[in-house]
Amino acid sequence: MAVAARVAIKTDVAIIGAGQAGLSAAYHLKRLGLAAGRGFVVLDQSPQAGGAWQYRWPSLTLSTVNRIHDLPGMAMSEALPEAGDNVEAAVAVPKYFAAYERKFELPVYRPVTVSVVCARDVRFRIETDRETFSARGVINATGTWESPYIPDYPGRELFRGRQLHTQNYRRAEDFAGQRVVIVGGGISAIQLLNEISFVAETIWVTRRPPEFREGPFDPEAGRAAVALVEARVRQGLPPNSVVSVTGLPVTPAIVSMRERGVLNRQGMFSEITPDGVRWADGREATVDVILWCTGFRSSLDHLAPLLLREPSGGILMSGRLATQVARDPRIHLVGYGPSASTIGANRAGSAAASELLQTLGLKPVMDSA
Ligand SMILES: Cc1cc2nc3c(=O)[nH]c(=O)nc-3n(C[C@H](O)[C@H](O)[C@H](O)COP(=O)(O)OP(=O)(O)OC[C@H]3O[C@@H](n4cnc5c(N)ncnc54)[C@H](O)[C@@H]3O)c2cc1C
Repeated sequence: MAVAARVAIKTDVAIIGAGQAGLSAAYHLKRLGLAAGRGFVVLDQSPQAGGAWQYRWPSLTLSTVNRIHDLPGMAMSEALPEAGDNVEAAVAVPKYFAAYERKFELPVYRPVTVSVVCARDVRFRIETDRETFSARGVINATGTWESPYIPDYPGRELFRGRQLHTQNYRRAEDFAGQRVVIVGGGISAIQLLNEISFVAETIWVTRRPPEFREGPFDPEAGRAAVALVEARVRQGLPPNSVVSVTGLPVTPAIVSMRERGVLNRQGMFSEITPDGVRWADGREATVDVILWCTGFRSSLDHLAPLLLREPSGGILMSGRLATQVARDPRIHLVGYGPSASTIGANRAGSAAASELLQTLGLKPVMDSA
């Protein structure tokens, strides 16, 4: 017996993901005159507002994050007038985003996990774990949190200790009295190294010596860093992270880590043994834990049927801020590549909203630039 295809809910634009990038896109679509529901919907798999911030570890506070830029049209202080710097990002941001969604009456459906997006003539069919949606354009804003990256080193499966990724980190006390190898040269690696070093014996390894940056990070240097990532995606290459090209700011915590002798970087080991790690020169270390602070990749598996990737493995991007997929201009990726920061996500949402409406022939009622 033939199974009837599920009736799809029709909308003009489906935004997938309600983090900083998805909410910025939603704000701008609404501002440009698109109606909530019939005009656009936001599909988000998380149980509550806040994007990936709701999953971050408790010691990541508004003072220890790099900086969370306000979403367009509403400052965080409006939603959280009493919030001090020590409030957890995992508490503050969900409250802020929830207030934002309410204030602008954004049509966010959650929890809805998009499993697959397929092209069907002039529309996209968006399969989820609940309803099916049909849209003329897609703004993908699914971030990276669901796609932790762990490099492959020989012997990884033989290790008898515990291996975990930044994504699974909760608190330093979980490692008390243990020997921990921390892998990675980014901001998260340094922060976790600092915390864990107070309660455990740490070994810090990175592939390349990290570049520390003295003094404040001026906007000019920020633009230059983003331009490097943008140049890659405009050639269809996989993006590297924005932070990987900005360097590590020397914070008071880093100064104190230097003084405590914790910032003692070693080169990358070459293999993992049942009891620890071994370097190419034969040195070995016995450890209880390997903590992989090795970053994330973009969560794009649900777009696989659209065949967006180039032979290089990346997606060729075009448009004003490189948010538009060159192979199919009805798809925008925001929070991807050069816009993988809170400020980048804000801008990308604006560019994607206005360009997509033009592509679909839905005339914007005002300019969002
Ligand atoms: C530890 C850490 C600290 C950071 N600190 C900073 C900082 O201080 N400043 C800064 O500018 N940037 C920072 N970043 C980067 C920053 O978090 C992002 O650039 C920005 O917040 C990401 O927003 P986003 O909307 O792209 O993604 P997210 O916040 O990850 O939101 C994506 C949303 O999509 C949903 N989703 C994913 N897959 C699906 C699916 N298949 N179906 C439906 N929904 C889906 C998720 O549930 C989530 O709600 C940090 C990143 C990390 C990992």
